[in-house]
Amino acid sequence: MRILPGVSDLTAPYWRAARQHRLDIQRCRACGRLQHPPGPSCPRCHSSELEWSTMSGRGEIYSFTVVHHPVHPVTAGHLPYVVALVELEEGPRLVANVRRCPVEAVRVGMPVSVCFEDLGEEIALPQFEPAGPPG
Ligand code: ZN
Repeated sequence: MRILPGVSDLTAPYWRAARQHRLDIQRCRACGRLQHPPGPSCPRCHSSELEWSTMSGRGEIYSFTVVHHPVHPVTAGHLPYVVALVELEEGPRLVANVRRCPVEAVRVGMPVSVCFEDLGEEIALPQFEPAGPPG
């Protein structure tokens, strides 16, 4: 069992793309700035002309922490796990788990690529795994 994220009007396009295993990030039509999490307007130029843009899914670990204690009973069977701030190659940073990698092998600057954990019909959770060799 997992705790499912709440979906709002603002985040619905993000989750819709994730369900199709795409990482879509909000982009300002006026100035091109990418922002995550999504908002009602661009924090740089205040335009409300926003669109969704599909990312490559590649990035690197900007920062991370290893969780050893269950913050909620449902996480007890998953310890320890990594919560990372991943910087996408396009610039935005997002919080996700790092999977398919021993927690002690996770490093700042480690190249990662997105993968998706399907949680039922409605939600697929963007996560990251170590990126394969370039090319
Ligand atoms: Zn803008």
